[in-house]
Amino acid sequence: MRKILVVGAGQSGLQLALGLQSHGYEVTLVSNRTADEIRTGRVMSTQCMFPRALGHERALGLNLWEQQAPRITGLGVSVAGPPPEEEPEGPLTRAVDWVGDLGGFAQSVDQRLKMAGWTELFTERGGQLVVHGAAVSDLDFFTRSHDLVLVCAGKGELVSLFARDAEHSPYRTPQRALAVSYVHGLGHRPELPDAETVRCNLVPGVGELFVMPTLTTSGRADILFWEGIPGGPLDVFGTVTDPAEHLALTLSLMERYTPWEYARATRVELTDAGGTLAGRYTPTVRNPVGRLPGGGAVLGVADVVVANDPITGQGANSAAVCAAVYLEAILEHGDREFDEEWMRATFARYWDSARHVTKWSNAMLAAPPPHVLSLIGAAGRLPPVADRFARGFNDPADFENFFFEPEKTEAYLTETAAALG
Ligand SMILES: Cc1cc2nc3c(=O)[nH]c(=O)nc-3n(C[C@H](O)[C@H](O)[C@H](O)COP(=O)(O)OP(=O)(O)OC[C@H]3O[C@@H](n4cnc5c(N)ncnc54)[C@H](O)[C@@H]3O)c2cc1C
Repeated sequence: MRKILVVGAGQSGLQLALGLQSHGYEVTLVSNRTADEIRTGRVMSTQCMFPRALGHERALGLNLWEQQAPRITGLGVSVAGPPPEEEPEGPLTRAVDWVGDLGGFAQSVDQRLKMAGWTELFTERGGQLVVHGAAVSDLDFFTRSHDLVLVCAGKGELVSLFARDAEHSPYRTPQRALAVSYVHGLGHRPELPDAETVRCNLVPGVGELFVMPTLTTSGRADILFWEGIPGGPLDVFGTVTDPAEHLALTLSLMERYTPWEYARATRVELTDAGGTLAGRYTPTVRNPVGRLPGGGAVLGVADVVVANDPITGQGANSAAVCAAVYLEAILEHGDREFDEEWMRATFARYWDSARHVTKWSNAMLAAPPPHVLSLIGAAGRLPPVADRFARGFNDPADFENFFFEPEKTEAYLTETAAALG
């Protein structure tokens, strides 16, 4: 039986560990936390996953919360505009406001719930769990005792094993300051009271507020997630350690920059003491193969090798895709050696889809060019454009057809307007 070591009990590590286990591999999982520590710890993400990624989980029977988690069927975009002329100091208005149909459902299951549950499932099914923060020296040892070592340790210190790929990493510094609050008591937007919707609120020159339903450790909840341009008015969470203060700051910024979202948030309270998160990181693509001091090679997975800013909500989706692609490649490879050539070819299969996510996520971090503003504006008048934009979150490769080049955007908008008469 082939022996595989998985380092990191996150989206990609657990999906791979459970997938390999179900095919009879002898899998050891190294996690720096127990299931209980994960469950009772701090939130890690907003983890909204779209139909394709959910399908990969379902294919392995890992959709354990599908019946309880809210089914998100729409994705809305609102763009803040200036206050009304007659009230220049008044609240900001919405210059753009629309909802696209996702054409399926998305779900967010708090990673504390999911990763704790999946870790327990792995051990219940006979998997070996080692609770330990793996160091490079441990990996050296493991490469000698295992057929393959998969490094699924997210944005942790082990990324230093994998060289930065400068060609695909345009940024040298974090492009957003992140601040997340999980809350109970959020109302619906009055214009769509019955729909479960992700709301992307863009505040030009300032940042973005994402609002989405989730399933957390205390049941259904909503997430308020600010992405602030560094040095700007939203970049104020760095020194806040008190969760109540974090929420109060989140709400005061909503009142100032997205008053239409604040209007439904006046009664919210944090889900729990671990329900806030603040931080920032630099989007980075890395060389997929890590060379250890002892000569062994390890393969980087998901965020280790392709970490995008969460502005497009893609990291967990990409981790699910990466795990599915790697699983298939491992199964196909049978009893042959997992050498560096195989590792590079396996990553290339993943990069084939990940490159679209990286290109789109990096583009969304920059100030939008005129044709993108016109596309987002047109979606408010042309429902098929809103739907296609929303469905791009499920299949970012489609943005190649209508998002990046002004000529393609114009042709698409002209064609869609003509079709609608
Ligand atoms: C604020 C925020 C919001 C986000 N929102 C979304 C969203 O809406 N949709 C979406 O798709 N993605 C989102 N993401 C991204 C998503 O959460 C990640 O991209 C995804 O979880 C990456 O999966 P992974 O398996 O690569 O790593 P992770 O899920 O980060 O798992 C890595 C695991 O490895 C463990 N680990 C680290 N080092 C070691 C070590 N040395 N030894 C042992 N274990 C170790 C960690 O503790 C962790 O459990 C968001 C991220 C953030 C920060």
